[in-house]
Amino acid sequence: MPAAFLLDSNALYGDGVFEGIRIYEARIFKLEAHLDRLWNSAAYLEIEIPYSRGELTGILKALGCKNEIRGTGYIRLVVTRGRRLDLGINTRKVARATVFIIARTLQLYPKEFYEKGLAVITAKVRRTPAQCVNPNVKTCNYVNNILALIEGNTAEVPEVMMLTTEGRVCECSGENIFIVREGRVLTPPTDNILVGVTRDTILGLCGKLGITAGEASFGPEEVHAADEVFLTGSGAEVAPIVEVDGRRIADGRPGPITRRLLEEFRRAAENPANSTPIFA
Ligand code: PMP
Repeated sequence: MPAAFLLDSNALYGDGVFEGIRIYEARIFKLEAHLDRLWNSAAYLEIEIPYSRGELTGILKALGCKNEIRGTGYIRLVVTRGRRLDLGINTRKVARATVFIIARTLQLYPKEFYEKGLAVITAKVRRTPAQCVNPNVKTCNYVNNILALIEGNTAEVPEVMMLTTEGRVCECSGENIFIVREGRVLTPPTDNILVGVTRDTILGLCGKLGITAGEASFGPEEVHAADEVFLTGSGAEVAPIVEVDGRRIADGRPGPITRRLLEEFRRAAENPANSTPIFA
């Protein structure tokens, strides 16, 4: 077989699904939620994951042990449709899905972002609508998000806010977005976003802390006028946004609810009830 066919050419098409999972103190955070989403994503693309959940959990733990991740770390778990038998795109010409996993340490944003907050702009490119590729599904095709982030690079900001084709706020290029208005925590509904594990954790924490929180549809002008804005993601955790489209949010400093939620999130991350041990 020519060498090119030995490559997993489905990786070239973005024809796969993946998860980004945090490790805190040698424990895999919210593993079950990530595996649920991985299996749902794979089902959407009709990719059969060649392991059971139990087997995959065992592989993740073994890799964490082998790489000696004793403190914090990050797992990138990828399932592509697999090695192709030709150079076409027909999904019937594939034998078996390929699984590859990277487990390493990670610091996505510099420390000062959490203390001072970060600036974002609204990307001109719109988020792919659910009728085309469902954004609830974490596919390996991030071209839409990458195009948005290129706009961020041009504007010299580290993240961007993306809108739906109807002009409503949906999420950032790789994180969910929240606003705080008159003490209420609001985040866009699930129809046009990746439903983040961190987003769910934050909504749950708000419930426990007695902070009113829920889903709401809002436009960029409501973000500009918000009391606080923050983003959430497995890599980024909870990061305050203090400037949007060149406008300062409130006094331009991370707000009290954002700071409280970041603190509580870090506590939840260290709570063994939320995680699976690597060395066990
Ligand atoms: N939206 C997008 C587009 C993402 O890529 C991610 C990161 N997986 C998120 C939101 C946040 O999801 P999570 O909290 O599960 O990392």
